[in-house]
Amino acid sequence: MRIDVVSIFPSYFDGLTLSLLGKAQSAGILDLRVRDLRDWTFDRHRTVDDTPYGGGAGMVMKPEPWGLALDELAETGDSAGARPTIVFPSPAGEVFTQATARELATREHLVFGCGRYEGIDERVFEYAATLGEVRLISLGDYVLNGGEVAVMAMVEAIGRLIPGVVGNPESLIEESHEDGLLEYPSYTKPALWREREVPPVLLSGNHGAIASWRREQQLERTRTRRPDLLPE
Ligand code: SAM
Repeated sequence: MRIDVVSIFPSYFDGLTLSLLGKAQSAGILDLRVRDLRDWTFDRHRTVDDTPYGGGAGMVMKPEPWGLALDELAETGDSAGARPTIVFPSPAGEVFTQATARELATREHLVFGCGRYEGIDERVFEYAATLGEVRLISLGDYVLNGGEVAVMAMVEAIGRLIPGVVGNPESLIEESHEDGLLEYPSYTKPALWREREVPPVLLSGNHGAIASWRREQQLERTRTRRPDLLPE
């Protein structure tokens, strides 16, 4: 999979060279390229923002650098003729979930455009739709200073679903949200730690009993912590 990220703070993404996503890039499974939006500016101050039409607080990201960035990045998808999916993180977008991650993990080419200030000139989203599929996606119902942290979270959630990124694919199946429920509690050695025991069923070797206990725990956790996930 090819992922392009455009940001005015590209060094935010240095963390994505670590751990599983770093290894996936070294192995050629993930082609992640981070670009500075200011590379598509031509004035002395490398300006990417301006005052909002109609007045109001804050600055708005100018459309010109975004237009040039998208022209260049949308064109260079690896498979001939494939249109990218262009994701703009936004608190006013659809909420990102595991289902969104699964859907986007099937794409060949993703482009992420990180907003800053009061956001990006609205015409950029319209123009981007002429180049590919456009998605405005929110990390949750709160406001961040910029799209970088949201894009890092999305790239990590999507990236670990790309075949070959996580060594044991079974560990993906049993996780929270994969079957609509939260994951059961996990324990490791020692069996007794600070007067707290591991639930005896996990030491029993009875795989059927362990599976039913884990299922009950999943249901109980979901009921108490996230009842909204359970069907009505
Ligand atoms: N004025 C915008 C609004 O009220 O919708 C918020 C702008 S925010 C300060 C700047 C940038 O941060 C946004 O353009 C977006 O890229 C990013 N951002 C902020 N909150 C976000 C969230 N919950 N999910 C995804 N991106 C977010």
